Amino acid sequence: MKIKNKLHGTLVQKGIGHINMNYESRGRFGEFGGQYLPETLMNEIHDLEKAYEHYKNLPEFNEEFMKLLNEYAGRPSLLYYAKKMSSNLGGAKIYFKREDLNHTGSHKINNVLGQCLLAVKMGKTRVIAETGAGQHGVATATAAALFGLQCEIFMGQEDIERQSLNVYRMELLGAKVNAVTSGTKTLKDAVNETMREWCRRIDDTHYVLGSAVGPHPFPSIVADMQSVIGKESRKQILELEGKLPAAVIACVGGGSNAIGIFRGFTDDKGVRLIGAEAAGKGVDTLQHAATITKGEKGIFHGMKSYFCQDENGMIAPVYSISAGLDYPGIGPEHSFLHDSGRGEYVPVTDEEAVSAFEYLARTEGIICAIESAHAVAHTIKIAKEFSPEESLVVCLSGRGDKDVAAIARFRGRNVYE
Ligand SMILES: *Cc1c(COP(=O)(O)O)cnc(C)c1O
Repeated sequence: MKIKNKLHGTLVQKGIGHINMNYESRGRFGEFGGQYLPETLMNEIHDLEKAYEHYKNLPEFNEEFMKLLNEYAGRPSLLYYAKKMSSNLGGAKIYFKREDLNHTGSHKINNVLGQCLLAVKMGKTRVIAETGAGQHGVATATAAALFGLQCEIFMGQEDIERQSLNVYRMELLGAKVNAVTSGTKTLKDAVNETMREWCRRIDDTHYVLGSAVGPHPFPSIVADMQSVIGKESRKQILELEGKLPAAVIACVGGGSNAIGIFRGFTDDKGVRLIGAEAAGKGVDTLQHAATITKGEKGIFHGMKSYFCQDENGMIAPVYSISAGLDYPGIGPEHSFLHDSGRGEYVPVTDEEAVSAFEYLARTEGIICAIESAHAVAHTIKIAKEFSPEESLVVCLSGRGDKDVAAIARFRGRNVYE
């Protein structure tokens, strides 16, 4: 079978107690991934690689990490059967993996707790991170406060102005927020600046990357730390349904919540893995962030993957109503899952996501993040293709309080934040 050959191998259980497929080899997922970095960073990235290899296989590290996930983040998160929505749509039984119920309101807490723990073990006293709208910045500042680490966040000037509430949140949590004024003054420039800062002060500093992107070992670290989502989901759906779901669906920005839930099911070949990417105002406009649908292979932010590019191969400006999906690339593991045929990636527009956001609120009483609403929108589209004997597991990556004002504006209503 195609997939079997391409993935050459079976599941191995290693580290962190999560499922890790050995299609990952020395920082590559097929042709994707790698370490495209300036030479000055190579020693440091190799140090991180070695440290991570060591700790991820250490039972004490994994126990400490699990304890944080359970006792601080509030895991395991629920797998909730959306009965009303399922009968209303008239097809598959729909289950939501409720990452929105975690402390700080999204899946991001899983990764930052793991990486800050790793930073402490490596003897670092300071963490830095990029942030777009501020979600990852707030999560990192939260974990840094918990661990007593110094914390500095790099955020585009544009985003600072648009997201002043999150800037204040980070400051409340004890972090310093630095404005990035290069390039388009948004997320991709914040990543560049955080990398530069990491080069400047690597001795005491760990870079807490926020998604399953960047040079190896970051995509693997983030996927491992998020794979708790898939591991729990698989166990929960087997308990509830006695069989595996027909498909697992998640939204994809850089791809951390998606790879986290997919990792639980990658070797279950009957389970379709579906990623919903942001089509913004439509994939035939220039205002989208649909990397797999419209992008080309390239090298950026230290990795080979798919990226939205212009006709000269420059990284294209991207757009989505959802700040968390507004990134011009996608993690290398997703590019591999796509090219190998194991994963499916579909575009979802702003309009479809907003309608799904409203539908979920009315139907199930859940106000989800606008990012997650992209996964919900695709679920609404395909639910009828399945029978009530089949189930769909959908990752609700976050809660939607942060998005309410923007959705109101999208619908032409004025509300005060
Ligand atoms: C940041 C964020 C995302 C997108 O990031 P991924 O790395 O693709 O998961 C999705 N949902 C929420 C709620 C987020 O905060």
